Amino acid sequence: MPCSVVVGGGAVGTAIAQSLQVAGFTVSLVDPCDPQKPASWGNAGHIAIEQIAPLASLATLKGVPRRLLSAHGGLSMPVWALPHWLPFSLRFLAAARPQRQAAGKSALRDLLALAMPAWERYAAVLKQPGLLRADGHFIVWSDPAAAARGRRNWLEADCGTAYFREATSEEYSQLRSLTVKPLAGAIRCVGSGQIADMDLFASAARAGFVAAGGVTIRARAVRLARAAGRVRVELASGRHLDADQVIVAAGVASRPLLESLGHRVPMIAERGYHVQFGAEHWPRALPPVVFEEDATIVTRFQDVVRASSYLEFNTPWAPADPRKWDIIEGVTREWGLPVAPRLSTWMGSRPTLPDYLPAIGKSRMADNLYYAFGHQHLGLTLAPITGELMTDLIRGRAGQMSSQSFDLERFA
Ligand SMILES: Cc1cc2nc3c(=O)[nH]c(=O)nc-3n(C[C@H](O)[C@H](O)[C@H](O)COP(=O)(O)OP(=O)(O)OC[C@H]3O[C@@H](n4cnc5c(N)ncnc54)[C@H](O)[C@@H]3O)c2cc1C
Repeated sequence: MPCSVVVGGGAVGTAIAQSLQVAGFTVSLVDPCDPQKPASWGNAGHIAIEQIAPLASLATLKGVPRRLLSAHGGLSMPVWALPHWLPFSLRFLAAARPQRQAAGKSALRDLLALAMPAWERYAAVLKQPGLLRADGHFIVWSDPAAAARGRRNWLEADCGTAYFREATSEEYSQLRSLTVKPLAGAIRCVGSGQIADMDLFASAARAGFVAAGGVTIRARAVRLARAAGRVRVELASGRHLDADQVIVAAGVASRPLLESLGHRVPMIAERGYHVQFGAEHWPRALPPVVFEEDATIVTRFQDVVRASSYLEFNTPWAPADPRKWDIIEGVTREWGLPVAPRLSTWMGSRPTLPDYLPAIGKSRMADNLYYAFGHQHLGLTLAPITGELMTDLIRGRAGQMSSQSFDLERFA
């Protein structure tokens, strides 16, 4: 029976491990299980299949000055982190050129079209049919000019297999009853979804892996050692792991592991923040609500309401900036949202490559080395389909997708 080692037990690594198990592989999952949750479990829980346009675009670029200057722009590029974000930004500019953006959009559209069916299959593997709620999400505005602009953008946008419609009068009144600010507009996405509870997802994913015979090795991979065209995983304890396949799926930590072998991985930590509140007064069945002017998404899970925001280009190891939690809470207060009290705060890193496409493929540096990381804002959405594509790749099967757009060699 082929034996695989997956490095990184976030949503992407765990989904790969479980997809390989379903295909009959014996799998070990290496993860230090740090007490600080990785992005996989701290994110907004949105299955964002509508986001087919990579953020490396001229439209994003145009919005940068306004977002940097506005208190609620949700964008932060700290001066002390300039050595990290400047090289990333230069590559971003190249990737934002219309021709490259169009090619990226086409690849991401194809991938996102497969994401929701893959999530349905994954929820079945986890024996959690209620985990995925394909109820869409709302976008709302308080300023009439912003609402007119936002409506036009989203209603006319190509959103792949999802689309937007105006909120019905019933939906509008429900949203209206949640805010003290007047609502200038509300639209609903049809086709997107959410994870009903992120803690349930994390525990079901871990338990499902172990129940299917998987071994979790609580350790940090420090190096991939190459010999005779193959790699083995070296752990911080000094132990080595040999495997038929080594799959690196360690989010932002994938970069040093692969660069030590000669890969070029221009990935940055695009850090995001969330604040969690008590959920007693937030409607249980309400899908996520995006407050677009404030770059904030609010999601109801089982027992908490989570407000998430921020794109902070930084190193993964810099301490969190507590002002950002205050700003996020300030947004919920300004809108008068029925959330109280503040229960917890969190910061985590999106693994982001300059063209805002993931890296999924087989390494040219060693015969048994594969990688899957760089899922930027879409790692939760894309985890199950990444697992399936990786399994196809390892088995040498003509998979669901043949795009070369996710090959890491694009940065060589
Ligand atoms: C505020 C915020 C909101 C978001 N909202 C959404 C959303 O609504 N929908 C969506 O689709 N995406 C969202 N994302 C993005 C999504 O969370 C990420 O794309 C996703 O978590 C990436 O998953 P991953 O498994 O690749 O990486 P991670 O979640 O970073 O997991 C990496 C894993 O690797 C392990 N690891 C690290 N170093 C090592 C090592 N040396 N050896 C072994 N293991 C190691 C870590 O412990 C961790 O478990 C959001 C992100 C943020 C920050």
